[in-house]
Amino acid sequence: MPLVPMKQILDEAKKGNYGVPHFNVNNMEQAQAIMRAAEEVKSPVILAASRGALKYSDLIFLRNIMLACVEKYPKLPIALHLDHGNSLESVKTAISLGFTSVMIDGSLKEDGKTPTTFEENVKVTKSCVDYAHPFGVTVEGELGTLGGIEDGVGSGKVQLTDPNQVEKFLKLTGVDALAVAIGTSHGAYKFKIKPDPDKNLLAMDIIREIHKRCPNLHMVMHGSSSVPQELLAEINKYGGKIPPTYGVPLWAIKEGIAAGVRKINVDTDLRLAVTAAVRKFLYENPEAFDPREYLTPARDAMQKIIKERFVEFGSAGHAYDYTPITLEQAKKFYKK
Ligand SMILES: [Zn+2]
Repeated sequence: MPLVPMKQILDEAKKGNYGVPHFNVNNMEQAQAIMRAAEEVKSPVILAASRGALKYSDLIFLRNIMLACVEKYPKLPIALHLDHGNSLESVKTAISLGFTSVMIDGSLKEDGKTPTTFEENVKVTKSCVDYAHPFGVTVEGELGTLGGIEDGVGSGKVQLTDPNQVEKFLKLTGVDALAVAIGTSHGAYKFKIKPDPDKNLLAMDIIREIHKRCPNLHMVMHGSSSVPQELLAEINKYGGKIPPTYGVPLWAIKEGIAAGVRKINVDTDLRLAVTAAVRKFLYENPEAFDPREYLTPARDAMQKIIKERFVEFGSAGHAYDYTPITLEQAKKFYKK
């Protein structure tokens, strides 16, 4: 079964010059939506679990839902990724659950709120790399802090990534991928006014500078849901009360991909799709009470938006470009 280290998926994305969406998984319907879309458009898959999702699912349920994806779709390359690990302990837990990739967010202290110093970040990140690489497991770090708070993670303060620190951070830690702060934020409330393609929305110059200095680094954009306006309108039409807000437009993400971003984290868009579909269904069918009846359109709505992301980021059509490698093979790579 091609449960692959995330590094392979990102290495291949670099070769093909495309981006791969990372989707957060919390329940079965979401996992099915991701996998159905991936199979439909033949995309490699990064299934991510946050600490919040693991807690919500008592670890074991989410682990088995993710493994069910691997069993049901044996030909698609799939990486199981821990999102925003906050300590070596959380990384150890994820690896014991069978994850093939972990993020250690050393930009924040273990509380997930207080920004760390560069040295503190290096220390915790390096300890996770030293632990994970002998298992063949990929490690993503973070330098700089994002705005917004999601699943309790975030300082609420933005500190853009300093390209001067990146080379040093890579040398000292050995991470495979790096989340960069370029002005995106977690959650639905990213921008108050509609992003203008003629104005600098994100700090793309930072991405370009990092890519120039560290061409082999896989950069990751967190907080990159696009917050489709039609989903907000649908939610509010059927009883929701979400204030006006804008996400990261696809054109900005594509700029990032062209400049060396290989992984794009998307979570809010799926939440909005589910909520819009459930609200609409229950509004139109007030007599309904079978969850399967409203979770079916909810799952379809997620699948639709996921498919769009695979296509827009360019990973569609690339699932079968390469022979999946195992963690065993990845172990040998790190030994060298
Ligand atoms: Zn994040």
